[in-house]
Parts: sequence; C-alpha cells; structure tokens
Amino acid sequence: MISFEKALETILTSARYMGDERIDFMDSQNRVLAEDVYSDVDMPPFDKAAMDGFACRKEDLDNELEVIETVAAGQIPQKSIEAGQCVRIMTGAMIPEGADTVIMVEQTEMTGEERVRFTGSRTTANIAYRAEDVTAGDVMWKKGEPILASHIAIFAAVGCTEPLVAKQPRVAVLSTGDELVEPYEKPGPGKIRNSNAWQLMAQIRNVNCIANYMGIVPDTEEETDLAISKALEENDVVILTGGVSMGDFDFVPKVMKKNNVDIRFQKVAVKPGRPTVFGVTEKSYIFGLPGNPVSSYINFEVFVKPMLYKLMGHDYRPVELTLPMAADYKRKKADRLEWVPVDITPAGEVLPVSYHGSAHIHAVCLSKALMKVPVDMFTFDKGETVHVRPL
Ligand code: AMP
Ligand code: MG
Repeated sequence: MISFEKALETILTSARYMGDERIDFMDSQNRVLAEDVYSDVDMPPFDKAAMDGFACRKEDLDNELEVIETVAAGQIPQKSIEAGQCVRIMTGAMIPEGADTVIMVEQTEMTGEERVRFTGSRTTANIAYRAEDVTAGDVMWKKGEPILASHIAIFAAVGCTEPLVAKQPRVAVLSTGDELVEPYEKPGPGKIRNSNAWQLMAQIRNVNCIANYMGIVPDTEEETDLAISKALEENDVVILTGGVSMGDFDFVPKVMKKNNVDIRFQKVAVKPGRPTVFGVTEKSYIFGLPGNPVSSYINFEVFVKPMLYKLMGHDYRPVELTLPMAADYKRKKADRLEWVPVDITPAGEVLPVSYHGSAHIHAVCLSKALMKVPVDMFTFDKGETVHVRPL
C-alpha cells in the first residue's frame, strides 16, 4: 500500500502531454492554452475620452469655451485645441491634440450657440491614456492555463482568433457489476442504479475532456477482458469502477495484467477508496476505482483530475483552505489519509456532516468541502485549523 502523495506523484510522472491543435477561439472555452498569447495592440490604442463631455485645456476650466467640433467614438479629431476652445466628445473617442481634460456633460451649461461653461468645482482628467492597461507585446494569457469565459474578451481584443490549445484526452467510462441497472430503469430485487458512470461522465466534462461511456460490464472474467481491451484500444484514458477489491467477482486487476497493463499501484492509504488501481499501457492510462460512489467521486477529484489536466499541459493545483473546526472531530484509526465531507458554517468554520461511509453519496451532495485528515491524526479539537478543499 502506498501513500496518497506517492500515488499522486506516480500518476503525474506517468502522464505525457498529448499534443496540441489550433481551433476557433469561440470553441476554446475551457480548453487549456498551449502557447502564450501576446497583445498586438496597446490598450487603449490612443488617449480616449472616459466620459461624454467636452475636451479642453485644464488651465481653461474657469473660462467660457468655444465648441469647435464634435468628435464621436471611432472618429479622428480634425482640429487641435487652442486657448479658450473645446470639442464636444463622446466616451471612447480620440482626445484632440492640445486637450488634457474632459469635463463631464453633466457639469457644464451652454451659455450661447456653441459656447459652454464648466459648472463643477473640480474635475479629474477623465482620459484613458494610451497603453495604460496593456502595451503591445505584453503576454495576455499563459500557456498551460485553462481558457475561461473572461479570457475570450482578451482573445477577441488582441485578434487571437485561432489559439493553440491542448488536445483533449478521450476518456472511457465503464462500470462493472451484475447488480447495476441504468438510471432510466427501476431496479429490481438485489439491483441498484449505476450512478458512478454518470457521475464520472459529468466530472470528465467538468475538466473538458471527451467523455466516452462504454456501458455496464457483467462480473465475468471474459466480459471484463473484452471490455477492457476494447476500451484501451479506443481511448487515451480508461476509468472503470467496481471490481477492484477482494470479492470473488473482482476481476479488474487480473484482467488489466492480462491486457499488458503495467500496474503502478493497486492500493493507496486513503479513505475512502483504498483499492484504487492505476496502470499504463504503451498508449493509454487506466484507473480502476472502487465501486462505492463516494470513493469513485473523490478519487476522480484527487487522482484522475490532476492527471487529465497534466495530459493537457496544465499543472492543476486544487484550492485548499485553512479553516477552524466548529466542533471536535475524532476517528478510531489513523493509518490512512481521509477525506471527510464537511459543511462550512456562515462563520467560516468546518463542520463534518452526517456521513455513513463510502456508499453515502448524498452526504457529499449536501457538503461544501472535503476535509483532509492526515495519516496519524486521530483528533481535531474545536477551533483547531484544518485543510479543506471546496467542492
Ligand atoms: P465493488 O467495488 O464492485 O465491490 O462495489 C462496491 C460497492 O459499490 C457495492 O455495494 C456496489 O454495489 C457499489 N457499486 C459498484 N458499482 C457501482 C455503480 N456503478 N454505481 C453505484 N454503486 C456501485
Ligand atoms: Mg462489483
């Protein structure tokens, strides 16, 4: 049995980058950027009015001003400002030469035909200066980072219409178990619905890989063999649930070996999810996650997700908060690192939720975070700080 840290390191050091492709920027949301994106323009590209009003010389604020032209956004001023002059200017329009201030239209009054007076007591320049936000050549977004909705504006603004992004791993999901029926069916006696596969499909989509559902595998060695060999052939990553523990019908590790999978570990000192298997073939990676839904969910989050991101060139660092306990916590055994579903109170304290173990998926739905209980740690006292990962 290996430690959580060693297992994660083993997974991450096996993961090789899968290459990249150029795609339309509007298809790049949630993909991982594969090259730095630079700006080809200054932002703003010229000194521009930040308000609708009149552009003039600051030293003229006490004087009545002659309006010599009107400049709308997108137009180039035809005249430069001399003493006692101003131009009527719209937000986003280019500041005329000679002007250093824009007075807001709300702080002016017309004193005659094309004559205007400042009625405020003081004003800022109300100018957005050339390159004050970005200088041409600046890096806008970095290689290895996921592209979020807010980055799309940046790509648009710098004309990056075909970003280079990491290829998406194709990830197969298989559930093993004779007791499983699909969610559309009512389970008969002795049966339960297959929740893991659909949970995993959603988790895979969350990291924007290609999720490929390959069905329920009956608990026979032959069927498991067929399913694993086909899945390894057609996918970059294969995730199975169930069939990895010590039961009479747990064939997954045996069949993996038969399919030339180099098994890197088979047991991890984590709770839930000790019987977690990870292996590699020449072209693919394979995980055997335990059948219990909480184990499958958490082990995807802590092991599979960082690996999928690594395949796409992203160094995933989960957010971990340090917060105080709202109550005492204790456990009987401390030989494994444990993830405990917890609530976070309005005061920002950590409160374990009612949780009956690794089949209790509803407890995870109702919790806000997973509390990390390290190996050898039996108790946390109220007020003691702990590490939690928000869900
Ligand atoms: P196993 O790892 O195959 O021994 O399964 C452990 C427990 O998880 C058993 O109670 C199974 O019925 C349950 N289980 C296995 N696969 C699934 C699944 N796909 N969805 C929900 N529960 C499952
Ligand atoms: Mg099973």
